[in-house]
Amino acid sequence: MKSPAGDTPSPQELIGQVPEFAGLARSATLLRPSAGAPGPHDSSVGGPFLWPSADPWPVCRAPRLVRRREKLSDRDRELWQEADRRTKERRQARGGGAYEVTEEDARTQERIMAGAGALDMVTWERIRTVSEPHDTPPPLIPVLQLFSRDVPGLPFPPGTDLLQLMWCPDDHAEPPGQPRYWGPDAGIMFRSSAAAGTDRILEPPRPDEAKDGYVPAPCVLDPLGAVDLPEEDELPEELAETALTWAEDHGADYARTLGCLPGWKAGGWPSWHLTDFVPLDCACGARMRLHLTLDSGGDPGLNVGRFGELRVFVCPSDITHPLRLNIQ
Ligand SMILES: [Zn+2]
Ligand SMILES: [Zn+2]
Repeated sequence: MKSPAGDTPSPQELIGQVPEFAGLARSATLLRPSAGAPGPHDSSVGGPFLWPSADPWPVCRAPRLVRRREKLSDRDRELWQEADRRTKERRQARGGGAYEVTEEDARTQERIMAGAGALDMVTWERIRTVSEPHDTPPPLIPVLQLFSRDVPGLPFPPGTDLLQLMWCPDDHAEPPGQPRYWGPDAGIMFRSSAAAGTDRILEPPRPDEAKDGYVPAPCVLDPLGAVDLPEEDELPEELAETALTWAEDHGADYARTLGCLPGWKAGGWPSWHLTDFVPLDCACGARMRLHLTLDSGGDPGLNVGRFGELRVFVCPSDITHPLRLNIQ
C-alpha cells in the first residue's frame, strides 16, 4: 500500500494506524537553520548571544588534543630504512606477495615508534597525540541560542526561557564528565531573557585558533514542530518489526523518515547509525534524554565527527545535572 502520490508517510500516520507507537512518540522541533543575520533577541546558530555584561564570558579549561612531532635520531632513521629495505628485498626474492616483517625488525620499529600513533616518512618525525591544557584558556564561541517560545515542549529550568550552547572549537579527548567523547567541549547556559538587562556584551572575545568545521556560520532558524519516534534499536522488538514493515509498505525507510528525524533538532529521538544504541546515564541514575542535535553541513557549515551529528543529552530528573555529549 503506497501513500497518496508523492507523499512521504508521517509518524502521525503510523501512530494513527498502530496506536502502540503513541506512547513512544516525542515532540521535537526541527530548527532548519539558514544563512542570515540574527540579532541577540533571535534564536540562532552561530549568532550573537543575549549576554549581560555582568556575566564573565566563559573560557575552556579542559585539556585539548595536541599533535606533537618528534624528530627521529639519524641512527633510528637508518635502522627504520634498513628494516624496510630488507622487507622489500625478501618480498622481491619470493616474487611478490605480502610484505612480511621479521620479528626482530618489528621489535626495532616498535621501539622507534615509542608508542606514537604515526610516522611522517618525509620529515622522519614521530607524531604523537597528547592531551594538554591550552596555553591560555580560550574564550568559548556561541553555537546555538534558543528562546523557549521557538521550541515548545523543550524543558527549561524554572524561571528561564533562554538556552545558550557554547563550545571550545578545538578537539578534546574525554573532557571532564564526558567519557568516550572526542570533540569540541560544550556547555549550556540557561538564563532569563528578561533578567539579561540592557547592559550587554556586544563583541564577545574570540579564540585565536579554531578547528575547521567547529565554527558555525551565523544562521537564522525556521522552527517546525514535529513528532519523532525512536530508532528501531530503541523500539521493543515486536514494534521494530511492525515499524520496518509499515515503512516499507509505504515506500519509505523507517529511520530518518518516521524515527530519529534528521538535521538540527530540539528534543525528539537520537539516531544510532554509527554505533549501536549507547545508553547514557546521569550520575543520579536516570537514563539521559536527547535535548539537542547539531548537524554537519548545510548553511551552518559545521563538520563534527567526520561529517556527523553532535548530540547533547540532559537528565530528565533535573535538567541542571551535568549534560552528556555524543557524536554519531
Ligand atoms: Zn578547549
Ligand atoms: Zn540526573
